[in-house]
Amino acid sequence: MHTFGQMMQQGHERVCFHHDAETGLRAIIAIHSTKLGSALGGTRRWHYATEEEALFDVLRLSEGMSCKAACANLPMGGAKSVILTPEPGSPRTEAEARAMGRFIDTFSGDYIAAEDVGIDTQFIDWMSAETNHAMGGKTVSTGGDPSPFTAKGTYNGMKACLRFQGKDPDFHGLQVAVQGLGHVGMDLCRILHTAGAELTVTDINPDRVAEAVESFAAEVVDTKAILQAECDILAPCALGAVIGPDEVRRLRAGIVCGASNNILIDPSRDAAAMAEKGVLYAPDFVVNAGGLIWLAGLWLGMNREELDRRNDAIEDTTLEILEEARLLPSPFHAALALAERRFEEGPTRGKETVHAG
Ligand code: NAD
Repeated sequence: MHTFGQMMQQGHERVCFHHDAETGLRAIIAIHSTKLGSALGGTRRWHYATEEEALFDVLRLSEGMSCKAACANLPMGGAKSVILTPEPGSPRTEAEARAMGRFIDTFSGDYIAAEDVGIDTQFIDWMSAETNHAMGGKTVSTGGDPSPFTAKGTYNGMKACLRFQGKDPDFHGLQVAVQGLGHVGMDLCRILHTAGAELTVTDINPDRVAEAVESFAAEVVDTKAILQAECDILAPCALGAVIGPDEVRRLRAGIVCGASNNILIDPSRDAAAMAEKGVLYAPDFVVNAGGLIWLAGLWLGMNREELDRRNDAIEDTTLEILEEARLLPSPFHAALALAERRFEEGPTRGKETVHAG
């Protein structure tokens, strides 16, 4: 399908391609929606096999950001950007980041960049030398790494799942399987361990696994086995698209609640299959909104108390969605319906923003 066709089907406002001759930067910024406010979304730096793959990724991710912001009740839209690297693992440079910063600046604040795969706080600070519209740096821009807030939000989502099942949100004696021990996964393990949960973990990086064993006495399983681990809660925190029909059939978890973006290969189909099987699924874009709440909230000028309150509110929002899903094919459908209602209601606090950068 042509780009306009895809944009119209998914409801995108603006998709912009950029080439910087001096640095060779090739990047795309996709704004899905600014209906509720400026659109904040990460910059992904990745080697895509084809240009079509990059476009597909940025369109899908930016649409997801609109739903994430709407469900988190933020007066923000949804956007995302991708940098197409010439080779896998090609090193990031300050010149490239600054060229990206200048590209972001042409959006005059409609798009606010943040961290995503392949980008770190240093890259954000380099971009921020050229634009006020990037969040998540440590020196030039503010916010730092949002992962601890994402982990906290995912934990809040798990509490909602337990409450929905009529249990106390008490993790003592619960078995939680965590796939991926990166920034979010390791923090989530720390929170769960402190709350009394028993952990089953995996990662392709043996150093991360060793750290989880030493710090949390975690049980280790093979990367291929984690999705079939017998546990109370399964938390995918590595990559997206890890659960499809085969995985649903083999699931032995009572709850699936993780931080990864796009956990399900086909969310509508796979979430419904989980509901049919009696597995409780907490929609990823609802429970992994903690990092967005942190950076967007800082951008909007919220104080720490308000930011914490909004992260804690992920618990009630998730519970509300799970309740509503009783009449629908799955919690994914209920979360989409909530996002749709918020789009229709329009902005709650107008489009005004406070420049945090
Ligand atoms: P990260 O890159 O720090 O961690 C990912 C971890 O997964 C790494 O340790 C990696 O080795 C491991 N991994 C990769 N493939 C694996 C496999 N097949 N099996 C097991 N482990 C594997 O990323 P992160 O920032 O922790 O984010 C984790 C997920 O959460 C991503 O999908 C990301 O899009 C999503 N997310 C992150 C944030 C955030 O604030 N960082 C916010 C929202 C969503």
